[in-house]
Amino acid sequence: MSENTNGQDIVIVGWGLAGTALAWELYFLGKSFSVKDSLENHSTRVAAGLVNPVVFKRLTKSWNADVLMPSAADFYSRVEQVLEIKLLSRKSIFRVFASVEESNNWASKEGDDRFSSYLKSPSKEQLPALSTVQFPHGIGEVKTIGNLDTIKFLEASKDFFLEKGVQFDSGFFLEEELNPTKTYIFAEGYGLRKNPFFNYLPLNLTHGETLLIETQELNFDATLNKNMFVMQVAPTVYKAGATYNWELTEPVTTEAAKNELIERLESFTTFEYKILEHKAGIRPTVIDRKPLLGVHPAQKNAFVFNGLGTKGVMIAPYYAGHLLDHILKGEALEREVDIQRFEHYYLPNRK
Ligand SMILES: Cc1cc2nc3c(=O)[nH]c(=O)nc-3n(C[C@H](O)[C@H](O)[C@H](O)COP(=O)(O)OP(=O)(O)OC[C@H]3O[C@@H](n4cnc5c(N)ncnc54)[C@H](O)[C@@H]3O)c2cc1C
Repeated sequence: MSENTNGQDIVIVGWGLAGTALAWELYFLGKSFSVKDSLENHSTRVAAGLVNPVVFKRLTKSWNADVLMPSAADFYSRVEQVLEIKLLSRKSIFRVFASVEESNNWASKEGDDRFSSYLKSPSKEQLPALSTVQFPHGIGEVKTIGNLDTIKFLEASKDFFLEKGVQFDSGFFLEEELNPTKTYIFAEGYGLRKNPFFNYLPLNLTHGETLLIETQELNFDATLNKNMFVMQVAPTVYKAGATYNWELTEPVTTEAAKNELIERLESFTTFEYKILEHKAGIRPTVIDRKPLLGVHPAQKNAFVFNGLGTKGVMIAPYYAGHLLDHILKGEALEREVDIQRFEHYYLPNRK
């Protein structure tokens, strides 16, 4: 145990991907905890839940993918076993190449040992399902653990922990509630901007929107990607997204984003569709694209777990465990995720 948690109760503030991953890791360690959540504006509730170990733009591996992927696969499988439900789709992502160069680049990386566990060419049987998709330069397949049903993950986990007697309080955590005998882990997504202890951290708000569409003319049991994702969620229903906007600071839907998504979708597909739903959320992103973990410089019973950015599903399990190893066993945090890297932003008189 580190000096901060000698026998103290742990309070998780925020029930998004970050808070829920922390809860499971605590449960697997046999530790008790309580939760406070304001029940509003979850990024997690809007996310497609995709786990993509590849950055398509440069066709490189996503940051730390070789560590994060197996950890996420193991974590969600363990949760599925406990809850006795399916949370992960375990389906591939199919990349529609934009050019001959991209197709050639893919072919050369597919033969490279460092990428071969993630990249492959799709089998011929899969392509007829794509008669309403245009792919003149071909398609590549990304092998991944699929996508997480994020809403089911939050809700089924909450039901499970409520049944186990975990205390869930709803409402916005206020500074005056801080009890010196407890340990707090703030996992508030973009709500961190209002956190009196951690609002010095440079968290960017990356607004994003998605559409839920229905079509009878695409029967593709996986995810397509070409400047956007089109992910099957039910036999004739797909989630399509997402946009990126750094000016909007509230999770509101906009006509501009809707039109942008329609334009992108129709640039490579020919199927007729109906829009069922339009949603917006805010990704908690960090300038160096690494998560934010660690203890407050002065308030030693306050920890943060945030900055999951665009890849929360893949990042949350491993780094929830890593933060708890730090809090409970005193293990050092990896420097690149430790909030100490931003300590120069901290002004003691602010908190
Ligand atoms: C359009 C879109 C698509 C995305 N697609 C993907 C994807 O395909 N794959 C992927 O991995 N990631 C995706 N993401 C990113 C993913 O959603 C985030 O990385 C992740 O959900 C962040 O989780 P979080 O728990 O940090 O934040 P949140 O989900 O926002 O949860 C924070 C919680 O804290 C609560 N809270 C905040 N402040 C307080 C307070 N003071 N007191 C009490 N409670 C508080 C909030 O109410 C909320 O419940 C997407 C995001 C968006 C917007």
